[in-house]
Amino acid sequence: MVRTQQDETKYREELKERIAELKKDKDAAIIVHNYQRPEIQDIADIKGDSLALSRAATRIGNDVIIFCGVRFMAESASILNPGKKIILPVIEAGCPLADMVNLDQIKAKRQQFPDAAVVCYVNSLAEIKAESDICCTSGNAVNIVKSLNEYRKIIFIPDKNLGLYVASQVPEKEIITLEGFCPSHVRLSKADVLKVKASHPGAEFLVHPECYPEVVELADGVCSTKQMFDYIEVSKCKEFIIGTETGLLYGLEKKFPGRKFYSASVNLLCADMKLTTLGWVAHALEFMEHEIKVPENIRVKAKRTLDRMLEVK
Ligand code: SF4
Repeated sequence: MVRTQQDETKYREELKERIAELKKDKDAAIIVHNYQRPEIQDIADIKGDSLALSRAATRIGNDVIIFCGVRFMAESASILNPGKKIILPVIEAGCPLADMVNLDQIKAKRQQFPDAAVVCYVNSLAEIKAESDICCTSGNAVNIVKSLNEYRKIIFIPDKNLGLYVASQVPEKEIITLEGFCPSHVRLSKADVLKVKASHPGAEFLVHPECYPEVVELADGVCSTKQMFDYIEVSKCKEFIIGTETGLLYGLEKKFPGRKFYSASVNLLCADMKLTTLGWVAHALEFMEHEIKVPENIRVKAKRTLDRMLEVK
């Protein structure tokens, strides 16, 4: 049987009502990453980037957090909120970038560069954070590396492009990178950007630093997702080309109705971020699946790494 658009709308409305009831019954809050599907962004109690969400979770009074994002984000929420039940609706929602580094690689790099600090991008699993010296986000990576006065050498894991961007901004330090990459952001090519720029010559181009350096070079602003909102807020420009996952455009269009946004490429899609649907959120609330709990010995070490980052101004 083919489902019509009308059936689909009714089905979604019913699911939203069910989710609202279950949220009350289970004393749950729904927190949602900026790259999620529009209908998931619409049911968010809090929406933002990965670290902002984990920190926001510490201020939420609810016992249960439904984390609509990917696994490493739910882990960060668990690291910072050990007393809360953190639920990831789709257990398969991972981050290929986070999976591109393992403990053996860190050990080998530490042996090769014993006088270097290990700076770990927040897009990494808890056990990797636990074995690093300090964490960073795409928004504060440059400042974190600059803050490490006692180290000239930095082992930057796992994203190579973010590491190269940091190296371009902090030339006084030696940045040693791994070969990790975000499969979504590396799909954006220089040719894609030049084409969209030619179609919208008055637009400013904002890019996420997980993109290739040759793409980053073309940008008016190099920003995390949160920084894109901040940039647009104060910009006099009316049109923007957005060089990050396409889910962000929904939030930008809602927040800035007078501005125009163009995706730098239709290929900027994260399949893992799109796995979460209204149906899975309802299922997660009903059955409390899937709880993400970081083992205490790893949690304590990983929290130290996150706390060090939070202490840097
Ligand atoms: S967009 Fe890239 S870095 Fe973000 S969750 Fe998807 S694969 Fe990971």
